[in-house]
Amino acid sequence: MKNNAPTNTSRRRFLTNSAVAAGAAGVAASGIGATGLLGSTPAKAVSTNAHIVIVGAGAAGLAIATRLERSLDGARITLIDSREVHLYQPGLTLVATGIWDPSDVEDRNARYMPGSAEWIKDDVVAFNPDNNQVETAGGQNVDYDYLVVTTGLQLNFDDIEGMEPDLIGNNGVGCVYANPDHARRTWQAASQFIETGGVGLFTRPPGPIKCAGAPLKVTMLIEHALREQGTREASDLHYLPPGEGLFSQPDIHDFLASHFPEDRNITIDWSHPLAAIDAERREATFTTPDGPSTMAYDFIHVVPPMSAPDMIRYGDLGWQEGKFQGWMEVDQYSMQHRRYPNVFGAGDVVGTPIGKTAASVKAQAPVVADNLVATIAGQEMPAAWNGYTSCPLIIEKGQAMLVEFDFDLKMTPSFSFLDPYKAQWAPWFLKDRMLHAAYNAMLRGRV
Ligand SMILES: Cc1cc2nc3c(=O)[nH]c(=O)nc-3n(C[C@H](O)[C@H](O)[C@H](O)COP(=O)(O)OP(=O)(O)OC[C@H]3O[C@@H](n4cnc5c(N)ncnc54)[C@H](O)[C@@H]3O)c2cc1C
Repeated sequence: MKNNAPTNTSRRRFLTNSAVAAGAAGVAASGIGATGLLGSTPAKAVSTNAHIVIVGAGAAGLAIATRLERSLDGARITLIDSREVHLYQPGLTLVATGIWDPSDVEDRNARYMPGSAEWIKDDVVAFNPDNNQVETAGGQNVDYDYLVVTTGLQLNFDDIEGMEPDLIGNNGVGCVYANPDHARRTWQAASQFIETGGVGLFTRPPGPIKCAGAPLKVTMLIEHALREQGTREASDLHYLPPGEGLFSQPDIHDFLASHFPEDRNITIDWSHPLAAIDAERREATFTTPDGPSTMAYDFIHVVPPMSAPDMIRYGDLGWQEGKFQGWMEVDQYSMQHRRYPNVFGAGDVVGTPIGKTAASVKAQAPVVADNLVATIAGQEMPAAWNGYTSCPLIIEKGQAMLVEFDFDLKMTPSFSFLDPYKAQWAPWFLKDRMLHAAYNAMLRGRV
């Protein structure tokens, strides 16, 4: 990779001064997405020869790259990600409960890469924001003028003693989180459990996780499957949250806190983070306020603790202290790094009060793109994320609640005809049949 740029500060100043701003602020509000949907190509907003590096070509990386390509004339955009298969992760819950096939969630990143972008098929191993450089596993040092970090998060199976991904699918161990193969193997273990019934444990780790609704959806779908199979009476189900909360939105917490025990006969064992698992003996040990507690199970859904990737968690780009320590330090509204103004972040990696859903990515991507374009043009950043996140909370096969809220934890329903507090068929249909297409449109920067 070339390394002949002027000093980083002077180069950025040069890029800013030479940028031809044709109304970056206007672009933010003018609905590039809507224009894209009509299939026309809007005029590029800003001319620049800046080099923008995007690390991670998942939901956020691709959605931002396609928007930047449309808005910038002359920019060099580089995406770095070794993964060629694109995973539609919101579908993993449906694979793990036997409703979708693993192939339904697999796609190819190449289909969404912006035509003019360079794709380095490698992994970043270090960020050096003081030198405006990232280092890859293959030994490349890639310089940038602007950096967008969209690496997603890391699953820390090692934090649970005795737990390793190879266990998934055997001895009653399930975990929906990592990939379609794990989801398929989870269904293998779950379907054996559904045939006979028994003790089912559904865990949830401390700290932020992606799609906090997924452990709840798995619990309710398996409970429903036991009823359909006629083995529910022979089953004893437990949901084990790490503390006193079931969901960050308080109305939904209240709903679940009564729905689980009263309507579904699911015991809630509060303050039970999973500490260890003995898969051979089918025993799980939890750290409780009264000391360690060991429970035997026939099926367990393990959700590993999650963090930002280590290079962020222990590097310069992470929050150095406070409640988001280790997650990427961005301003929760502008998504700009709080100490490195030429760095932006989006998706699961960022340390913000809520988020970690594809729905949040959809709301963040235009904010990052518009604010980055404005920054390049030397203008005020025009856009702010309001914390929008959403979860089609599946109550049983064929019924879901569309839960949408923002930083204030206020419900923000998109459809007046859908009651967010009521299980209905329409949100299920949305989840089962429509959201994948909306997600793909997001990758193309069209919604
Ligand atoms: C089981 C499950 C159910 C879910 N259900 C829903 C749902 O119903 N609704 C919803 O809105 N969201 C849901 N989500 C969450 C949603 O999928 C994520 O929030 C979203 O994918 C986050 O996008 P991202 O771009 O931050 O990360 P990802 O989409 O995970 O992409 C990260 C990318 O970064 C790459 N990468 C990682 N490390 C490096 C590195 N060192 N160098 C280069 N590249 C790197 C990876 O290869 C990957 O391509 C669910 C997730 C799961 C797992």
